[in-house]
Amino acid sequence: MPQRAGVVTLPADFVAREGNLPRHCARHGLPAVRQHDFLLQSKVKIEGNRFLQVGGRGVLGMAERLDQHGRKVRVAEVKGWPLCRRCVRTRALWLTVAATLFFGGLAAFAGSLIAAAVTDGMPWLAGVAVAGFALLPLSAFPFVLGSIPRLTGAETSPDGASVIIKNPSRAFTAELPRS
Ligand SMILES: [Zn+2]
Repeated sequence: MPQRAGVVTLPADFVAREGNLPRHCARHGLPAVRQHDFLLQSKVKIEGNRFLQVGGRGVLGMAERLDQHGRKVRVAEVKGWPLCRRCVRTRALWLTVAATLFFGGLAAFAGSLIAAAVTDGMPWLAGVAVAGFALLPLSAFPFVLGSIPRLTGAETSPDGASVIIKNPSRAFTAELPRS
């Protein structure tokens, strides 16, 4: 397997087969307590013309960028990625925080609107509604922190042919087949 310092590249068909990946986590080098299957996207650099965003053409520019993203993103299937105790705990923690912010925000927002409708106007309820609404987009941050690419440090190559892992642990690389 081609290797650069701190970066390991694995062929996409290698990671797509169950049982090929090491039994130790790529991040912490600890024994895996769970094998996780997921789809890994490539990062897309959009060649956008910023001037398209100016004036009334913002929507057009946006649509073009979304279209480019759809055409350029590559997805690799990963089977049995090793997650250790710490990975699993980190993921559970951040996803819990994200869910709490999201559903807490939603409950505060909806609840205060309903309360305002039935109690006939209490000014502070509007504040609760705004605060609840503000929590919704905030939940995206912990959600990203608990996401698989962030947790594994892996991403799919721009051509979709391989999976790139940045700074994997020694225990992880030691179990990879040598070319
Ligand atoms: Zn780990």
